[in-house]
Amino acid sequence: MVIFVGAGPGDVELITIKGMKALEKADCVIYAGSLVNEKLLAYCQKDVITYNSAQMTLDEVIEVMHQMHQKGKKVVRLHTGDPSIYGAIKEQMDRLKTYNIPYKIIPGVSSFLGAAAAIKEELTLPGVSQTVIITRRSGRTGHNEGGSLKDLAKHQATMSIFLSVQAIDEVVEELLSAYDKHTPIAVVYKATWEDEKIIRGTLEDIGKKVKAAGINRFAQILVGHFMASHYELSKLYDENFTHGYRTGNSKKKGD
Ligand code: SAH
Repeated sequence: MVIFVGAGPGDVELITIKGMKALEKADCVIYAGSLVNEKLLAYCQKDVITYNSAQMTLDEVIEVMHQMHQKGKKVVRLHTGDPSIYGAIKEQMDRLKTYNIPYKIIPGVSSFLGAAAAIKEELTLPGVSQTVIITRRSGRTGHNEGGSLKDLAKHQATMSIFLSVQAIDEVVEELLSAYDKHTPIAVVYKATWEDEKIIRGTLEDIGKKVKAAGINRFAQILVGHFMASHYELSKLYDENFTHGYRTGNSKKKGD
């Protein structure tokens, strides 16, 4: 059995309990060493066999999984954040199918959520944006499938841009085709790690600030008016709004 586990954004307490238990039981862990916090390996048994996939090809990863499976060993494939987002797990799962190796997935806290918590903001504000777009700039490994930043910016939704801080000037330029220059933007480097850095600004000044801070990798870019202070109060907690769990004026404290 191979278990794909979302490691969470970095803080070792932000893996799920299920993910932690899978690490405790694993005979072998293949972890994405460029981004996964290696301190998570402390949850494993002493004689666990570990591989850092940063130095491996897909074939090599599958070969390890195959050999371990043949010996009846439990393998954890540890991916940063949630494995379903830019995790390159589909190609691994498809290869496992050809070997008839069973697998399952344990989700994780994606780094865009770690970043939202770090900046203490709500991504879906009433009257501002009820949509979150997860995307990346096209680069060496990704193209424009689903729309370029320019196209997506037209929606004026909340945007979480992965894998792109190294090209912050280009990101800003593309966003400026639809957002005005005062639009708030935050760059969160290593969200939830001990050396996390938060840079806040507007589309006008973020490029300079990010470069001054020396950030060129490992960061989330969050953009949108959800970071401004104009919004509507939520209907869910409005005393004049009734729903299945609260009728009429039965407003309770701490609801
Ligand atoms: N599956 C991961 C994303 C992997 S792609 C997830 O759900 O978060 C790698 C990119 O994710 C990085 O280039 C960066 O843009 C982002 N990222 C991963 N961990 C991060 C963190 N702790 N803080 C900020 N960005 C992070």
